[in-house]
Amino acid sequence: MDKIRMTTPLVEMDGDEMTRILWQMIKDELLLPFVDLKTEYYDLGLKKRDETDDQITVDAAEVTKKYGVAVKCATITPNAARVKEYGLKEMWKSPNGTIRAILDGTVFRAPIIVKGIEPYVKTWKKPITLARHAYGDVYKASEMQIPGAGKVELVYTAENGEQSFVTVHEFQGPGVVQGMHNLDSSIESFAKSCFQYALDTKQDLWFATKDTISKKYDHHFKDIFQEIYDAQYKAAFEAAGLTYFYTLIDDAVARVIKSEGGFIWACKNYDGDVMSDLVATAFGSLAMMTSVLVSPQGYYEYEAAHGTVQRHYYRHLEGKETSTNPIATIFAWSGALRKRGELDDLPELVRFADVLEQASLTTIESGKMTKDLALITELPDVTVLNSADFIREIRAEIEKSL
Ligand code: NAP
Ligand code: MG
Repeated sequence: MDKIRMTTPLVEMDGDEMTRILWQMIKDELLLPFVDLKTEYYDLGLKKRDETDDQITVDAAEVTKKYGVAVKCATITPNAARVKEYGLKEMWKSPNGTIRAILDGTVFRAPIIVKGIEPYVKTWKKPITLARHAYGDVYKASEMQIPGAGKVELVYTAENGEQSFVTVHEFQGPGVVQGMHNLDSSIESFAKSCFQYALDTKQDLWFATKDTISKKYDHHFKDIFQEIYDAQYKAAFEAAGLTYFYTLIDDAVARVIKSEGGFIWACKNYDGDVMSDLVATAFGSLAMMTSVLVSPQGYYEYEAAHGTVQRHYYRHLEGKETSTNPIATIFAWSGALRKRGELDDLPELVRFADVLEQASLTTIESGKMTKDLALITELPDVTVLNSADFIREIRAEIEKSL
């Protein structure tokens, strides 16, 4: 069989621990036998990040701007324990944070739906894609404890020295206060990424804030979304038969629960933090969540939503068998290959992405799955496989289809 051709390389970002092991298995068993795989390889494993003073992460993000499509393995975000474990020079920043800042992107997370793993919400038939704004608000707030009676004000000093004031509160006793901010440029990029991704995936876009209470702050988000929609995306949405829909966050929550799914839900930073975990859990499993970073310029970086599965890795190092679920990482590859195929006009590559995904789902639906899914499936006659055997079953399905 001739291997499926690629013309432009994918930016390949390798990672850490159990997902690094899965990464290699997926390439060896599911990609290299079928695709003439072209990648530009960046090792974002923690050791390499430390050796290069994290320059490798910056380089990987920069080259994504050149090629447009990247696929990333989960990586360790160092904490004090990791600094010790790996003897790091520094507590390097989160690679995802660095990449997101360089690409100015928004993260879209969507569940992979498969028969036998049923969402907790009975009406959900299609995935709900959650878009989280990843800058500012409470995540970059300044806070103060107020020891006793006194006045708290917000003061804005313009560059020319002119000042304006607003009273936050006249305290009669102790309390707390918080100052948050956001930037038009960041909100605009968020809005553009959302509109772009909605068109790309042919899904409606919902956006919700609390603008009835937050009449300036949240209202500003609502206005920016509406202005960008009207000026740049309305015509394309109408032509594609798609809707942009704004509502209050509490109304959105109620509608989401009663919906069938099949849309993108854009959330402010805090709402997105909370709601993405809620949606992921309600769909069944973190191991079945994909994630794609989309920049307003249309650069894409695909990955799994879960981490490096450290606990399984330590078992693996002890020589014990692990049943880690590779599905979200496989779908990161299929997402990236499909996008590459679309951009380069390679229908065979697009078809391979479909075959790879379908083979993965068929394997699960036939009752062969990893342990995490076996614990929650409603299918009878389940066979629990280790990661390597599960991947080999998927390969057999691909071979049947091609
Ligand atoms: P994790 O890797 O998401 O795993 C947490 C737990 O969820 C696992 O112990 C496992 O539960 C279950 N799980 C997650 N993915 C699974 C899979 N594919 N198959 C089966 N079970 C799965 O989070 P963590 O272990 O707390 O974090 C490990 C490292 O990942 C951290 O250093 C963190 O910085 C990093 N991280 C990276 C990313 C990223 O690169 N995008 C995201 C999050 C975290 P059981 O142990 O009960 O089986
Ligand atoms: Mg969270």
